[in-house]
Amino acid sequence: LRHHLVKTKRLEVVEKMAAAISHEIRNPLTAAIGFVQLMQDETISNDKRDQYLSILKSELNSAEKVIQNFLNYTNPQIERVESLNVNDELDIVTNIMQPLAKRNSVTIESKFSSIFWINGNRQSFHQCFVNIIKNSIEAMETGGPLKVEVESTQTNAFIRIHDTGKGMTQEQVERLGEPYYSTKGESGTGLGIMVSYNIIRALNGTINVKSEVGKGTTFEFSFPIDETK
Ligand code: ADP
Ligand code: MG
Repeated sequence: LRHHLVKTKRLEVVEKMAAAISHEIRNPLTAAIGFVQLMQDETISNDKRDQYLSILKSELNSAEKVIQNFLNYTNPQIERVESLNVNDELDIVTNIMQPLAKRNSVTIESKFSSIFWINGNRQSFHQCFVNIIKNSIEAMETGGPLKVEVESTQTNAFIRIHDTGKGMTQEQVERLGEPYYSTKGESGTGLGIMVSYNIIRALNGTINVKSEVGKGTTFEFSFPIDETK
């Protein structure tokens, strides 16, 4: 049942992404068409023609990039898969985040009470937790502790990212994962959580978010334990 639920949700996300992406591709394509039309005028100078051509090229490149990014998110099978020691990989991620944490007076505390392995792509795993931890740090406007925990039971392994930041309302929590959903205005893209959630689903993980306004947020990721190891 859970498997089914996760699959349905993932499809929903892909559909939303497709809508967002066609919107993103339409802008450069519309611009490109405009420049092709301008170039149909045979009386324009060679200089102008070169200028239009270079804009045309850069518009087509940005449309191509949108598609490429989309394929990277939806095609995890082309990525190299390895057995990852979760604690080691989380250490790498927290090291990457250290400068940003310092700048925001955030202290990252890791507490690994167990060891487990995940089969997945190393880069994607890093990207997923960089996105989550970056948000946590950004939510902690006055600094404080940020906990990274690893724990397991007989059937599941958990990774928890627990911040003491500004938290979210129920509505905000429900919108997490929606493409382009951001409360950060110009400085946000609203793509981080969506990408992270897609990566977690590709790793057969499930996500649980608990948040309280003014108190903080906990992202809990749960993975089935592979008992054959
Ligand atoms: P961005 O960071 O570019 O806004 P994200 O997809 O990473 O986009 O996050 C979407 C939104 O989710 C953020 O704008 C923020 O409102 C909310 N959010 C995510 N993580 C947290 C967190 N740890 N604490 C509070 N709000 C968060
Ligand atoms: Mg973000």
